[in-house]
Amino acid sequence: MSITAIKGFNDLLPSESELWQFIEQTARQVFARYGFNEIRVPIVEKTELFCRSIGDTTDIVEKEMYTFTDKGGSSLTLRPEGTASVMRALIENKLYALDSINKLYYMGPMFRHERPQKGRYRQFHQIGAEVTGAADPLIDAQVLLMVSRLFKELGLTEPSLQINSLGCPVCRPAYREALVAFLEERQDALCEDCRRRQTTNPLRALDCKVPGCVEATQGAPAMVEHLCAECDQHFSAVQNYLTAAEVPFSLNPRMVRGLDYYTRTTFELVTGLLGSQSAVAAGGRYDGLVEQLGGPAVPGIGFALGVERVALLLGDRNFDRMPDLFIAVMGDAARTAGFRLMAALQDQGFWVETDCEGKSLKSQMRRADKLKARYSIVLGDTELAAGSGALKRMADGSQQTVALIAEGIAGAITGG
Ligand code: ATP
Ligand code: MG
Repeated sequence: MSITAIKGFNDLLPSESELWQFIEQTARQVFARYGFNEIRVPIVEKTELFCRSIGDTTDIVEKEMYTFTDKGGSSLTLRPEGTASVMRALIENKLYALDSINKLYYMGPMFRHERPQKGRYRQFHQIGAEVTGAADPLIDAQVLLMVSRLFKELGLTEPSLQINSLGCPVCRPAYREALVAFLEERQDALCEDCRRRQTTNPLRALDCKVPGCVEATQGAPAMVEHLCAECDQHFSAVQNYLTAAEVPFSLNPRMVRGLDYYTRTTFELVTGLLGSQSAVAAGGRYDGLVEQLGGPAVPGIGFALGVERVALLLGDRNFDRMPDLFIAVMGDAARTAGFRLMAALQDQGFWVETDCEGKSLKSQMRRADKLKARYSIVLGDTELAAGSGALKRMADGSQQTVALIAEGIAGAITGG
């Protein structure tokens, strides 16, 4: 029996990789405009990093992590998200001391043990960005502006931006109490998970998908109505900046993120096109995180998008690339001359193909068609003796005589 891949771990096939490269390149270009630099962090970290940052009572840490003991007896985890590692790297390499503001982005695989379905996998890919060192609401707005511009550049208008504020350690405890009191009165209507989380992570009841919980939490107190003066001001300022830059958004007071480190501004880009996999990108502010991980009190904000979900939204875009030239050859001397010509043209940046199977001229031309080559040329003893050949434009079959030197052919295929 042949060996198959692990459930939830996918191959990215050549037919899809061009779409992914488009997504990645677009992200790099957009991030560059806002002053972000790439950081590459390891895929495996000490388990403790994620417990301490994401939070022990979150779904990710409770149920979804790929954790194992290595041969040296250490508990290690395949990263379920990127922010924790980036902050670990920021602290460990003292990046905060090199510059007061750090703007970093990353892309790569993440791992969560979830039930695989469309848009939800066990190895999936995120593109994310983080800004540390600025508590100013202008930075929140800039990150949101950048996310919304990124989706625009990708050609997607659909996922819409929803924002909320989760308050801070000053105002959240009182809100939490109010929410717990509200939930206690509706105990019986809540699912088992929500009842269990009532003491550890009551906010999660607000984004529980179980219909009973959705109904029971209608009219629950909202964090935005319990913000302290500073958080309230911060949140208003973010919205004012967004309005000033004409970034469309809506307020979703029920949005709670699944990671404990968030404070103040949180956001999601939400689509109706992917079923319950509705979040395409998500993020927020995490002002206490760096300190919590043993670093200085440096505020931060960031987001990550799911590449698979973006790719699903972009659908079957056609990224067909085609060779510039197919060199068909007859005989050994032509084969060598063709190889030489191919090498010279490739050096000039052209995509050139030739026969590599010893096929007849007829099947070589079939292959040129299959590859959708823009031009073809046939080399045989006659052409070699004359030093020239007929360059054929495949689209309409028109031919022109060209010298068998790279410059001659390059000029012809660039011109047409
Ligand atoms: P969901 O509510 O769908 O589980 P999440 O809140 O767990 O998403 P985040 O941790 O905020 O997601 O991750 C940011 C983005 O990463 C998501 O918006 C989504 O696009 C993507 N993502 C998260 N988990 C998966 C997964 N298992 N498979 C594919 N993409 C994922
Ligand atoms: Mg999740």
